[in-house]
Amino acid sequence: MIRLVLVGAAGRMGRAVQQAVAARPGFEIVARVDRAENRDAAGGVCTEDPASVVRPGTVVVDFSLPPSAAAVARLCGERAVPLVSGTTGLDAEQQLAFAEAARSVAVVHASNFSIGVAALRRALRTALAVVPASWDVEIVERHHRLKKDSPSGTAKTLAADVLAARPGGALRHGREGLVGERPAGEVGVHAVRGGTWVGDHTVLLAGEGEWLELRHVAQDRAAFAHGALTAAAFVASAEPGLYGIDDLLGGPGRPHD
Ligand code: NAD
Repeated sequence: MIRLVLVGAAGRMGRAVQQAVAARPGFEIVARVDRAENRDAAGGVCTEDPASVVRPGTVVVDFSLPPSAAAVARLCGERAVPLVSGTTGLDAEQQLAFAEAARSVAVVHASNFSIGVAALRRALRTALAVVPASWDVEIVERHHRLKKDSPSGTAKTLAADVLAARPGGALRHGREGLVGERPAGEVGVHAVRGGTWVGDHTVLLAGEGEWLELRHVAQDRAAFAHGALTAAAFVASAEPGLYGIDDLLGGPGRPHD
């Protein structure tokens, strides 16, 4: 049985993780962490103080905000408690907390826990290796109106994948005014906000007289929640280190549980 401490338990993702745990044997939530005023939404009993519940023998799953995610990562490092975090929008210093924790314990920090997005990233790498470098790449993401960070962590990950395949490229966040012709190597990133979209990412590759569109749509947060539980099972027995979602999936084409 994997004993989970759920940070951000009252949030949209926290509640999705609670539903996934209820549907999936082998996991138990032993503590919920969130703000006191969110106690009811968190599922009843919750604490504001992760230090009182993060202890050896547990695995922390965090979907909260950058300051709490970084603080929890430091705590997990100090106490050698494995960590899975999906919180996005961290600055460089907050990111460092994950790398430091990973020196003493297994950590998965991923901007998107869906298996479909992992497949999208692999498909993108393949497509970029095939089409000429002259093809233009644009990334468009859509999320619900309550999302706080833009562009999404997943869009940033996809953009980093493009720049890794196209060294020398530059990101362009939106366009307005007389911006001139599109420079070669530019990677456009566009964030659409509205309604209740869970997460929608499209990568457009545009050539001469043809274009290719790779798209992933998350319809339900269950997609992320189940990926986070798979990651929790992984970190519970993995060596210390900082892992990504690819480390959980094995080689191309291997079915995922
Ligand atoms: P949300 O705003 O619904 O929930 C965040 C929760 O964190 C809230 O309940 C809030 O009260 C709580 N919180 C804030 N400060 C806290 C603190 N100091 N201690 C404990 N809890 C605290 O947001 P959400 O939609 O659930 O998303 C949470 C994060 O996960 C965001 O960064 C989002 O981008 C990210 N996310 C990641 C994935 C993924 O697959 N990696 C998927 C969806 C969302």
